[in-house]
Amino acid sequence: MTNKLTTVPGTPEERKRKRKEYERIYKLTHKNIISQQGKRYYRKHKDRINKRQKIYSANIGNFKKYNITLGEYNILLKKQNHVCAICGEHEKTTLRGKVKKLAIDHCHKTKAIRGLLCNMCNRGLGYFRDNTKILNSAINYLDKYKKSFDNQSDELKQFLYDMIVGFGDAWGGGVK
Ligand SMILES: [Zn+2]
Repeated sequence: MTNKLTTVPGTPEERKRKRKEYERIYKLTHKNIISQQGKRYYRKHKDRINKRQKIYSANIGNFKKYNITLGEYNILLKKQNHVCAICGEHEKTTLRGKVKKLAIDHCHKTKAIRGLLCNMCNRGLGYFRDNTKILNSAINYLDKYKKSFDNQSDELKQFLYDMIVGFGDAWGGGVK
């Protein structure tokens, strides 16, 4: 009677380690076959692979630059509720008909990732040279203009009111 082996020997960890070792050796000794298989696969699925590569380069190419994985990016995205960290809005800018991913914003000095921004806010920070002094000055500038505009608008309203009432009197009866 022969001893039939019904179970593969070793613990699951050992079997996993053996399989990995086998795969490693297989890859080393079958380089040509694997390379040919890869080429055949590419020829067969060329369009799909190229399309995926294009999207990858456009959107995810930056991941390598900032040393972040897609998983880490998605965690950040979830933390920010999928909106820009500054304006709180979803990305609207499109690239080849597809809405872009939020940009990975980083500190130019330390290279550390600060957060994810929409295209407009990301560019805005760049145009303001990432400089809080200039940004504050811009806020004050806009506020000052708004105040003077509001005042002017009230004065204008008053002026128009006076004009109409005045004309009304002149026409006899005034404005009702
Ligand atoms: Zn934004």
